[in-house]
Amino acid sequence: MAKREAKHRRRAIKRNAFVANVSPQKVFERDGWKCHLCGKAINRKAVVPHPKAPTIDHVIPLASGGTHEPLNCRAAHFLCNSIKGDRGGGEQLLLVA
Ligand SMILES: [Zn+2]
Repeated sequence: MAKREAKHRRRAIKRNAFVANVSPQKVFERDGWKCHLCGKAINRKAVVPHPKAPTIDHVIPLASGGTHEPLNCRAAHFLCNSIKGDRGGGEQLLLVA
């Protein structure tokens, strides 16, 4: 089981061709704790999988060649982020973990 998990993780990291040092906290503060998808306030005390919990959304999805750097990151609700695409859900979770 543990081996399987490690393999999954490695693959996710490999897919992020470019990974800058992004602090989720800084992205949320820069965006004023507002979801860029629905424009409403993010509950900073909520934790995933709470629908209003803060997550990082990639403007250009990593799967489409987007980069994990502050310019490509926006604050978004966990729920909005999940609805946005069927791809990437796992990635987003990895980033806020
Ligand atoms: Zn939202």
